[in-house]
Amino acid sequence: MKYQHSHHAGNFADVHKHVSLLAVLDAVTRKETPFLFVDTHAGRGIYQSHEAAQRDGEAARGLQRLIAAAAQDAQLTTGAAAPIGTYLQRVAALRAERRDASACPGSPWLAATCLRPTDRAAAFELEAAEHSALRRALEYFPQFSTDQDDGLKRLRGLLPPRERRAVVLIDPPYESPKDEQRRVLETLVNALQRFATGVYMLWFPLKTLRDAEHWQHSLSTLVSRPVLYAQLGLYPLDARSGLNASGIAIINPPFRLFEGMAPWLARLHFALDPDGHGASQLCMLAARGKN
Ligand code: SAM
Repeated sequence: MKYQHSHHAGNFADVHKHVSLLAVLDAVTRKETPFLFVDTHAGRGIYQSHEAAQRDGEAARGLQRLIAAAAQDAQLTTGAAAPIGTYLQRVAALRAERRDASACPGSPWLAATCLRPTDRAAAFELEAAEHSALRRALEYFPQFSTDQDDGLKRLRGLLPPRERRAVVLIDPPYESPKDEQRRVLETLVNALQRFATGVYMLWFPLKTLRDAEHWQHSLSTLVSRPVLYAQLGLYPLDARSGLNASGIAIINPPFRLFEGMAPWLARLHFALDPDGHGASQLCMLAARGKN
């Protein structure tokens, strides 16, 4: 069966990715100059996590757990943890606007809420039904164009952007993990050659320690720019679960993103994994590549 992100919407990896994305966009929009946002694998923009998923499914151990933890602890959404608060505010706003308590934002919708009128955004989604839903989800955001196409192929045509600033999210389904990892890394190298100062955010699934080591090693050897590496897991990296941890790499992280992320990543991990079966990790990779 084709990958269906609606089965995973609001899971712990989505939460990790989306809070990180909002933190990146918050940092980038502190400067007035416009930027281009690209979502290479956009999905449908807005999902519904069904009641059962919120009760027993993936969202129960992700977004629903976070909402419950935030209701008990104001420090989870304020001060150093403000990006978590921003994410939960966006979720609440979407649910109120749609009058749908199960609505769950996807990356392009969240990004759209951060754009200023002068910013520009492009989203790509390969599946026809997902793309139609995406167009509907973004209809009130005129800065966003969408295409039913291969986002990795199309990215190169957008770089370098005329704004001279860009944030690119690369979030494939990893149905064929090795092939997709290879394509993501090739695309990243090409993108850096075209536009070395762009902010590139990659998401990847981590099932084993080897996966984590492989991503870290590949990024360090291919990239010469600063690489922030963040990991958040609900299970040990050798557990027999489908997905043990969520991995994110941010190439050219915005100013002070790393310092700001340390406290909220730890709090987010504690909220999602209160028994501490998994772990969170944050570091800058020693980049020694040529790109
Ligand atoms: N970024 C979305 C979010 O955070 O809400 C989730 C994206 S989901 C992990 C991956 C999506 O990529 C799926 O909707 C899938 O149909 C789509 N897809 C798969 N291959 C693609 C490609 N080459 N180009 C664009 N979209 C693709």
